Amino acid sequence: LDSRVIMDESAIRRALTRIAHEMVEKNKGIQGCVLIGIRTRGVYLARRVAERIFDIEGHPISVGELDITRYRDDRPTSAEAAGGLPDEELKLLVKDKRIILVDDVLYTGRTIRAALDALMDCGRPQSIQLAVLVDRGHRELPIRPDYVGKNVPTSRHEKIDVSLSEIDDGDCVTILHP
Ligand code: 5GP
Ligand code: MG
Repeated sequence: LDSRVIMDESAIRRALTRIAHEMVEKNKGIQGCVLIGIRTRGVYLARRVAERIFDIEGHPISVGELDITRYRDDRPTSAEAAGGLPDEELKLLVKDKRIILVDDVLYTGRTIRAALDALMDCGRPQSIQLAVLVDRGHRELPIRPDYVGKNVPTSRHEKIDVSLSEIDDGDCVTILHP
């Protein structure tokens, strides 16, 4: 397996800092915004972006999490989808808010579609935006990210490896060629 580093620690840091600034600019502040990380690595990315937004704006932004991988092909209940968050808690987090979903890699778009479904089930968000560290292309649904760390054209056989220091051996994004 041939592999090549496409983002090192500084590149990841700069991309997340830029994305935090873009979020603040696009939303004219962060009033009413909530970051929702998609498990597993989207949650760590969402927390990092939240820290930067705090540094920029001086106000905390709520961070929630969604775990939709197990339910991608059937309809999740919102409680399951939130990885155990009670329905009422998720509803409070989502209702009338500007939701910003955060994930590590965007590929076909099916995970995000399931996440949209789960969020819609638990109330009516004011809007939903999407941030990803890597967009590797090959969409099968009309979904596009609002914030992108890096666009990485890939073949379907290639795979992106995302390592984050919270759970992996440091920060690094690698492309793996079969
Ligand atoms: P999609 O649902 O868009 O096909 O795939 C996106 C989801 O699968 C994301 O949650 C992402 O974590 C995972 N995924 C898809 N392709 C890759 C990849 O090449 N590398 C990594 N690390 N995750 C991927
Ligand atoms: Mg994932």
